[in-house]
Amino acid sequence: MIKFLDLHKINERFRTEIDSKIKQVLDSGWYLLGEQDKTFEKHFAEYCGVKHCIGCANGLDALTLIIRAYGFGAGDEIIVPANTYIASILAISENGCTPVLVEPESGTFNIDPDLIEEKITSNTKAILVVHLYGQAVRMDKIRALAAKYDLKIIEDSAQAHGAIYQGKRTGSLGDASGFSFYPGKNLGCMGDGGAVTTNDDELAARVRAIANYGSEKKYHNMFKGMNSRLDEIQAAILDVKLKYLDADNARRREIARYYRDNIKNPEIILPQTYDEASHVWHVFVVRVKNRENFQQYLADNGVQSLIHYPIPPHKQGAYREWNELSFPVTEMIHQEVVSLPISPVMTDDEVEKVAAVINKFNIK
Ligand SMILES: *Cc1c(COP(=O)(O)O)cnc(C)c1O
Repeated sequence: MIKFLDLHKINERFRTEIDSKIKQVLDSGWYLLGEQDKTFEKHFAEYCGVKHCIGCANGLDALTLIIRAYGFGAGDEIIVPANTYIASILAISENGCTPVLVEPESGTFNIDPDLIEEKITSNTKAILVVHLYGQAVRMDKIRALAAKYDLKIIEDSAQAHGAIYQGKRTGSLGDASGFSFYPGKNLGCMGDGGAVTTNDDELAARVRAIANYGSEKKYHNMFKGMNSRLDEIQAAILDVKLKYLDADNARRREIARYYRDNIKNPEIILPQTYDEASHVWHVFVVRVKNRENFQQYLADNGVQSLIHYPIPPHKQGAYREWNELSFPVTEMIHQEVVSLPISPVMTDDEVEKVAAVINKFNIK
């Protein structure tokens, strides 16, 4: 079976380095908010091309912290793509704000910039863009809207570490960005982890304080904060893996290029990209009408596949109040998408086999 993602194999490549870093943390006797955190934050800020990186517990917290640090709350609206992973939307709800859903483009799966303006009201405070599946959103129109209506741009970069738009990396494309280091992400740790990146000094200080019980100085609490920290062991692991992120993303691009050049089956709709640099292929998502047959066929032929995601947020029980709303592009995407195996440790043989198997798929 060709695995969708072989995490063990991915991390095994760095075992010696990671072992010695973990030993360093054990030897230091310091487990939270220490040197490892500081070092990783510095390196990740440099990598993204921003002034500040603040480690936190996970990607959902990163987005929640940004929205809280801006002071957005009840009555405030935040625009977000309707087809995102639900965490982007939960971060908005968590702060008491109202998520306003916008349809994506069916070819790239990213938010359709032409559909945003009609959703802007006097209560809109921010546009939360999601670099979905690893592809950086085209920011030009969105920046123009943000400037025109005085809105913040918040990036959900949880799937797109290292993706580039006009020469700049995700994490530096908006006013603030949230990252996840969940094990399966392009840059993943061995547990939970996340980070906020920004060039805004004041926002950075607030995020850091809110993530630490709302305290900038021990036992002095300026904000009703939370506890969201990146621990030293995870930071140490991330600092090792960050060095290899560009090489890993390059291998993902190579595989995606092979799939796009060699999968030739009229039943399979391939994903669209803006250019080579814009996409880091967190997942390689195709569309197919008869998804169940296709997935069964892949499994019968030794290829594991997944669905990102089977149910759109507005059809979830968590958002019952939206269940009757209609987002046809989003719903079509959720019915047709299938994610093919892609990872830096896939061999050429495996990649070729996946394409060959798919080319023999016959819908009848
Ligand atoms: C993974 C993910 C998150 C949440 O990150 P966690 O670390 O799991 O909390 C948020 N948004 C998107 C798009 C994601 O893929």
